[in-house]
Amino acid sequence: MEIDRKIYGTIFDIQGHSVHDGPGSRTLIFLKGCPMKCRWCSNPEGQNLFPEPLYLKQKCIYDSLCVRGCPERAIKIDNDILLVDRKKCANCKEYLCAKVCCSGALRIAGRRVSIDEVFTIIQRDRAFWGNDGGVTLTGGEPLMQGEFTLNLLRKCYDSYIHTAIETCGYVSNKTVKSVLPYLDWIFFDLKHINEKKHIEATGVSNKLILDNVKLVASEFKGRLIFRIVIIPDYNDSDEETKAFADFINSLPLKIKEVNILPLHHMGKEKYAMSGRDYYFSDIIYENEERLFEIKRIFNKNNIECNIGADTPF
Ligand code: SF4
Ligand code: SF4
Repeated sequence: MEIDRKIYGTIFDIQGHSVHDGPGSRTLIFLKGCPMKCRWCSNPEGQNLFPEPLYLKQKCIYDSLCVRGCPERAIKIDNDILLVDRKKCANCKEYLCAKVCCSGALRIAGRRVSIDEVFTIIQRDRAFWGNDGGVTLTGGEPLMQGEFTLNLLRKCYDSYIHTAIETCGYVSNKTVKSVLPYLDWIFFDLKHINEKKHIEATGVSNKLILDNVKLVASEFKGRLIFRIVIIPDYNDSDEETKAFADFINSLPLKIKEVNILPLHHMGKEKYAMSGRDYYFSDIIYENEERLFEIKRIFNKNNIECNIGADTPF
């Protein structure tokens, strides 16, 4: 039976009491699915639209229960190496692999939920937000599940709940436009202004994204904050920072603000667990002083800039 995408969505986490993604204490809802594959993505298990197994090799006892339990024959074990063909998980209904695994080596990232189910959790958390809290939708890319996201935002808005979204902007103009009336804040992720470099590290062109930024800047009535993860030797030069600043200054915005975030490698383990390769094999960290230099370049160009968790919400 076809799923009603206006009512049902797929999420891979809900976290209460976050203070980094909008004002006050917030409930974060992580939606599955992303059209981009950024090399530094810290939630690779959020990229596929469907739930998928995460495998913890250290816990595996190689008894092959999952191999026999999977109706899609998606798992094989060869010389103590367990491989999952995750494309076959797209139509899975029961996720038996994780149910039969008694050592805890397999768990499923993602589950289908209804708007009402998510809203019940939001209402429960609401009692602990205090005066300024609310809901932030993130992911993955929340607008990949456009109808579900729209209806969830609308329900929050109708209940006087402060709403925010973090988006990469690589969705249709129509989808972006549809959610604007129900949002208080938008965190708009920018990766690179140069199209070739954008494709190189994310897999897609930035044309649609920049087009959607212009749309939001012209039509959105709430607070718009750009977010840029600063990647050494990718988007952290003076010229690249100036290109971001020039683009932001070309927009019809009264308040221009950027939140720059240092590269971190906290998602690295999840690449191995979800059968993906991690691009940064030699771990690199952004030089902290460089973040302050980048902040100064934005400030010199009349753009407010905050670094990481320093952002005052
Ligand atoms: S069922 Fe669990 S413990 Fe057994 S082989 Fe599969 S992942 Fe490993
Ligand atoms: S999620 Fe479903 S299809 Fe994928 S490995 Fe597990 S049981 Fe098989």
